[in-house]
Amino acid sequence: MRVPFNDLARQYDSLKNEIDRTLSSTLQQFNFVRGTPVAAFEKAFARAVGTSSCIATGNGTDSLFLILKALGIKAGDEVITPSFSWISSAEVISLSGARPVFSDVDDLYFTLDPEKIESKITAATKAIVAVHLYGQAAAMDDIKAICKKHNLFLVEDCAQAHLTRLGKYPTGTFGDAAAFSFYPTKNLGAYGDAGCVVTNDDALAVKIRRLANHGALQKDDHEMEGINSRMDSLQAAVLATKLPHLERWNHLRRKNAQIYSTELKDILRLKLPSIRQGSEHSFHLYVIRTPARNDLQRFLAGRDIQTLIHYPCALPNLSAYRYLKKTPRDFPVATALQDEVLSLPVHPELTGEQIQYVCENIREFFGK
Ligand SMILES: *Cc1c(COP(=O)(O)O)cnc(C)c1O
Repeated sequence: MRVPFNDLARQYDSLKNEIDRTLSSTLQQFNFVRGTPVAAFEKAFARAVGTSSCIATGNGTDSLFLILKALGIKAGDEVITPSFSWISSAEVISLSGARPVFSDVDDLYFTLDPEKIESKITAATKAIVAVHLYGQAAAMDDIKAICKKHNLFLVEDCAQAHLTRLGKYPTGTFGDAAAFSFYPTKNLGAYGDAGCVVTNDDALAVKIRRLANHGALQKDDHEMEGINSRMDSLQAAVLATKLPHLERWNHLRRKNAQIYSTELKDILRLKLPSIRQGSEHSFHLYVIRTPARNDLQRFLAGRDIQTLIHYPCALPNLSAYRYLKKTPRDFPVATALQDEVLSLPVHPELTGEQIQYVCENIREFFGK
């Protein structure tokens, strides 16, 4: 049996008629950028998350960058961000001219450890970029309180957390603004690059809309300089077609996660994901932890089971951040994670047979 990490072909087959129809009708409008499908998707996504505004962009990284620019983050500023994430959440800080200040994640949820944040705050600190890693909500209540106390902006990276919930509210509603990615393999994925910003701050929304379109809301109305980061109509049409299925797909991801967590719970050398109390994880990734990670990955590959590592190098340990002059000892949790994490296939298209096959092989590896 072959178990691929993602199965976009199977997902497409299940929606083929709807997708083909919307792509064909969008093509025939010949309005490829900022067309009516984009405005329609913005409205639908804002409603799904529960914010007053959604601004469609070119991708998730641009979305984060646009938020920082719109908040006025600039050279001389510092922005606190987790030691363990995809590089986007850190590189946009440097790109804005500011300095990324890494703060270590906690050992259980792999998101910013609120206990470690305050020691990183200086007179130059302007914002925190929190990441809801793997679909797990970060500790937003504590992080929000820290931002309030020190008068910092709060930006959420929701690229892995489409309709994750914390308490009653979806991630993306806790900070000043939030960035989403619709990269094809995210929980809601386009057929190419796409992203968006959501916010309840109407003035910030207008500024981001301008910045994403050369500083203009309408043609030639350049009130400021900006960048070109817009969503294609074709991507918006695909996303609008897929959005009504997102809750069901997240439910299937949670169900798959639950099966793994039940089937693998007796293996002592394996740490399974914890779910933050009062939250609903969206399981963009199901990540297990074991010192035997590399051997397990090789063993599973030999059984045709594809696994991935998110991420093999903690951000402060990357060559890109050597200039910050940090050592792996400064981020003990992230540095341990980089050598121990392994992502198992958890996508909604997995069959029961496939999950059982993965579990059987993991048990066999550990002699269980
Ligand atoms: C995917 C991802 C991004 C970036 O999204 P792109 O659309 O690929 O630019 C940012 N942050 C995290 C945590 C991600 O997983």
